[in-house]
Amino acid sequence: MRCSKRKCSKPALIHQRYSGLHLCEAHFIEDLERKVKKEMRKQVMVERGDKIAVALSGGKDSSALLSLLTKIFYNRTDLEFIAMSVDEGIHGYRSITLSNAEEVAKGLGVDFFRFSLEEEFGFTLDEIAAREFEQAPCTFCGILRRKVVERKAKELGATKVATAHNLDDEVQTILINYIRGDIERLGRLRGRREEFVPRIKPLRGVPEKEVALYALIAGIPVLTVSCPYAPRSFRFTVKKMLNEFERKHPGTKYSVMRGYERLSELLPKAQPERKLVHCARCGEASASRICKACEIQEMMK
Ligand code: SF4
Ligand code: ZN
Repeated sequence: MRCSKRKCSKPALIHQRYSGLHLCEAHFIEDLERKVKKEMRKQVMVERGDKIAVALSGGKDSSALLSLLTKIFYNRTDLEFIAMSVDEGIHGYRSITLSNAEEVAKGLGVDFFRFSLEEEFGFTLDEIAAREFEQAPCTFCGILRRKVVERKAKELGATKVATAHNLDDEVQTILINYIRGDIERLGRLRGRREEFVPRIKPLRGVPEKEVALYALIAGIPVLTVSCPYAPRSFRFTVKKMLNEFERKHPGTKYSVMRGYERLSELLPKAQPERKLVHCARCGEASASRICKACEIQEMMK
């Protein structure tokens, strides 16, 4: 197949079933970068003088994100990018992706900071998983990682935190909240709260497959290791289901996203946000008297 762009006759690298387009390498990159820029404008993701901490796990998505941001904002000398990683302590997985993260950051000339759950809380995710609590390890992992990123981003003076959530991740989250009937969290997905360093998700409009292809083209080593705990999560089931839908009905992911965006304009009015308080243990902003991270620490004692 040839590229479907006008006046281009190069061989196509990808067929976007949702758009009907076949794209050559150059037009694929152009299309992806256009989606990223559009999303960033839409969400006002970058402002003058920002210091942006990119959450870098060393996987394909976050590595591609760092590479893209440094490329897109090459001329913006007022912006600063740093990379930060959190080692959750997952044997046979995280140490591999983290050495990749460091290499990627170095290669792009970006300062790299590495933190760990063990240093911050005194235990690893493997130790949590070994206790066989009712919730899946991902639940604990998400809460604790978020806490470390928030705390360290503040300490490093970051004005924004960029995460590599792609279209698939976002749509999964939307669907998970629908299925659970968690309207409050659904509303919070897009909201910003001044207590926290603002999060930006530049890859939100790009399908996971395309992020992977971009990483390959950009020469980023795409690791084949995956987290051993992922299959235990609810997200994993939703992910499989969504991919099946997309295969049979191309465009499903984008349409779930569009539907959510329309709905979210109505959400805040329907659900006033709960007021935040200071956690009685760690003093950081929290929705309950003791924050979730401190609760986990209590459970682990
Ligand atoms: Fe953590 Fe779950 Fe991701 Fe593994 S799959 S790194 S446990 S959130
Ligand atoms: Zn706390």
